[in-house]
Amino acid sequence: MTTDRLSFYIDGAWRAPAPGALRLAVENPATERSVGAISLGGAADVDAAVRAARQAFGSYSRSPVAQRIAWLEEIGAQIEARLPEMARAISLEMGAPITFAREVQAGNALAHVQEVIGVLRGYAFEHPLKQARILHEPIGVCGLITAWNWPVILIMTKLVYALGAGCTVVLKPSEIAPLSAAVLADAIDATSLPEGVFNLVNGDGAGVGRAISAHPGVDLVSFTGSTRAGIDISKTAADTVKRVLLELGGKSANIILPDADLRSAVDLGIRRAFANSGQSCQAPTRMLVHESQMAEAVDVAREVAAGLRLGDPSRQETEMGPVVSRRQYERIQSMIESGIASGARLVAGGPGKPEGLETGHYVRPTVFARVDPGASIAQDEIFGPVLPIIPYRDDEEAVEIANGTIYGLASYIHSGDEARAMALGRRMQSGRVYINTYTHDLSVPFGGYKQSGNGREQGVPGLEEYLEVKTVLGCRA
Ligand code: NAD
Repeated sequence: MTTDRLSFYIDGAWRAPAPGALRLAVENPATERSVGAISLGGAADVDAAVRAARQAFGSYSRSPVAQRIAWLEEIGAQIEARLPEMARAISLEMGAPITFAREVQAGNALAHVQEVIGVLRGYAFEHPLKQARILHEPIGVCGLITAWNWPVILIMTKLVYALGAGCTVVLKPSEIAPLSAAVLADAIDATSLPEGVFNLVNGDGAGVGRAISAHPGVDLVSFTGSTRAGIDISKTAADTVKRVLLELGGKSANIILPDADLRSAVDLGIRRAFANSGQSCQAPTRMLVHESQMAEAVDVAREVAAGLRLGDPSRQETEMGPVVSRRQYERIQSMIESGIASGARLVAGGPGKPEGLETGHYVRPTVFARVDPGASIAQDEIFGPVLPIIPYRDDEEAVEIANGTIYGLASYIHSGDEARAMALGRRMQSGRVYINTYTHDLSVPFGGYKQSGNGREQGVPGLEEYLEVKTVLGCRA
């Protein structure tokens, strides 16, 4: 069965694209067959969506917070009614195993609605300060541009905070995984949210993405994707002095200190690095192990990687599906070749397809040991199930290796001594530090240091990104 979603959601209805739009097939990475198609929009479609969003902004921006909470609750209820459909779409378009797609990818969409409602209930949009009154006002029309690896979650962390702040939006989901976003738009269509507050235009980065970043009617662009595209968006948006929020790539260190439970830390570290087929921006993709424990860590890593249940994402028991596309598969293969060429020791997986999975973009879960921290597999984002294990001699060297990349999204530290872990945590140049945990708490801020991005999502900082600050002097009424 295929699903064609050729229209765009503009001004409260699904509408045909401007004349001349090309079609793009959506591929199921497990079968390499088409499961649907979208239209690739252009500047005229973005223009229509921005006009609708600007028109809606006037009254929506002045709506009482309680009313916005009520709309968000409606959106939550409509998403909940569509969770199975959303999970199916996610699994088909990007290959996530269906259980993971249902419980984590789609399930967390709902959790984000609940989180922002909590933030809105506790937030003071106005307050006195000395002789002034401070007003936190919605910034305006927001362009949201997202990636394919968590296709709904990446949208939700932006969308619900923008709507909660009182902004109107134009969304461009990833053209590689656009079907679940269409289910989300159906959910919003079924609510009483006013026309024009939420708009969706499909397309690629060069067409619709750039048109959003450049549009003078867009006040803010919030982007999740590669550092390459983030740089381009910042440059394009600079001409109209937009606020730009960037959630970009990562190469997060996972430091396992000698006093940690090594077996459990390596086991969990591999599973988290390979969850979602290794396609998560904050995955722990560099494992740092004390040199005295390297042999034992390698044994555990080999065992865990070999035991992962790979295969058809539609089966309940599958733990790892394919990677998203042929392009991504080929890039990962070239990174595996580069790891071998660098002299690192291949201890699990390797080049080529896993046995019995010749159709579909499946990658063998691959682990390298004794990797040089400067090697390409230890520096570049691979975005696949390939993990380098890097030896270190002492805490000082571990900190230096952990901070020695252009990225700074997350760091992970395992230790039996919390104070020692916290001392290292304070020195991590990353937006998040996970100590003996992998729980991705949706209620606290998320974002990157260095080239992992600018700005924060979630929590109060996630809301404030979508607000301007107005200081009123001379009148405190
Ligand atoms: P990508 O940058 O190729 O595409 C992301 C989105 O940007 C897509 O919608 C694409 O059409 C659009 N786009 C591409 N070029 C553009 C341009 N010049 N102007 C405007 N829009 C443009 O990334 P991807 O391959 O879809 O996703 C993988 C990347 O996303 C990885 O680097 C990953 O680390 C990153 N990511 C980051 C986070 C985070 O929160 N930090 C979360 C998930 C993914």
